[in-house]
Amino acid sequence: MKDDKDMKSISPARDGAVFINSDRLGGYSFSPEHPFRPERVKMVHEMCERRGLFSGNSVRVEQVEEIEDGLLERFHTKEYIDLLRDAGSGGDIGVEMLYHGLGTMENPIFRDVYDFAALSVTASVRGARIVAEEGRCAFNPCGGFHHAHRDRASGFCYVNDIVIAIDELLRLGARVAYLDVDAHHGDGVQEAFYDDPGVMIVSLHESGKTLFPWGGFEKESGGQGAEGFNINIPMLSDTDDETFLFLFRSIVLPALNLFSPDIVVLQAGTDTFATDPLTHLKMTNNGYIEAIGSLHAAFPRILALGGGGYNMADVVRGWTLLWAELAGVELDSGYGGALGGVLLGDASIDGSDLRDMQLYTTGPAKEALRKHSESLVARFEKEIKPLLRKSGSAGR
Ligand SMILES: [Zn+2]
Repeated sequence: MKDDKDMKSISPARDGAVFINSDRLGGYSFSPEHPFRPERVKMVHEMCERRGLFSGNSVRVEQVEEIEDGLLERFHTKEYIDLLRDAGSGGDIGVEMLYHGLGTMENPIFRDVYDFAALSVTASVRGARIVAEEGRCAFNPCGGFHHAHRDRASGFCYVNDIVIAIDELLRLGARVAYLDVDAHHGDGVQEAFYDDPGVMIVSLHESGKTLFPWGGFEKESGGQGAEGFNINIPMLSDTDDETFLFLFRSIVLPALNLFSPDIVVLQAGTDTFATDPLTHLKMTNNGYIEAIGSLHAAFPRILALGGGGYNMADVVRGWTLLWAELAGVELDSGYGGALGGVLLGDASIDGSDLRDMQLYTTGPAKEALRKHSESLVARFEKEIKPLLRKSGSAGR
């Protein structure tokens, strides 16, 4: 195994990034009341354009509007794919669809739902190829559907673009780690690679005691032969930036360093922010972007896939910051919009600055955060690190 680097076809790391855009993906709608709004793809693209973040030689936008066939089969069952196709073309919602999670309030059936799902997978796989072949970062804001199971829709996720993008990277010869910073546990991805020591899975999320999908506890640390390669970091309600960054520096970065991936696949959900209507964490985009900045400094090849985020204005600001970080573009502080006098899109979400105000949890709640996170770090040091060290020296 130790010569595997020489056999890889992946490109050396290079500066810059590719933004995967899709007018078609941004045009779908789950239902008028549904919290997941695909139009945010358009809004992020517009905000980045308005801020001048697509200029420079090492940065470009790639449009994905055509579905690549044969990708869903890499993870999902034929039965489920057929049901999804039927659902999208007006088939009746029956017991079988409901059994597979389709046609619920959570995962409504809408016209062309199959196309939406298949195109999001195509976009993430395109991103995977770009990162492997060019050595640059890529960002697909309409990806990161981490709850989708092999034969079941769940948590607004119909198909698991992440699992399929990781599969593509493995086929291209990359060593891959997956990092999930969404407020919800990445259960579908955990399930797919639970017994595989070849892929490291790390998820920071609000504890399953208070949030869907009600799992992702620290004791779920990998199947037989893969112990230590699945790392769950469940966080308490009111977790703030300081606490998140403490966990990120004490567990996430050391674990990734021991695994030493060529490429990190990042589920970049922003529903950890204090303003998110579906979750109970208290983060801001400051902690979010500081963590991603330190990840990027250590691992230059990142495939970022959107994920959750249900306060539209804050999703857009968070992902604009994310794009600037991946692309290596300096952000002007203050308002930099209306380039050339052309005002693009909805100006109401463009404040004077993209950064949030700082926010801290205090008092007894902060004390509880400190105790909880210290116990998570102690557990990592004692039980997980030795496993990774052992397999690191033997496996590579
Ligand atoms: Zn989420």
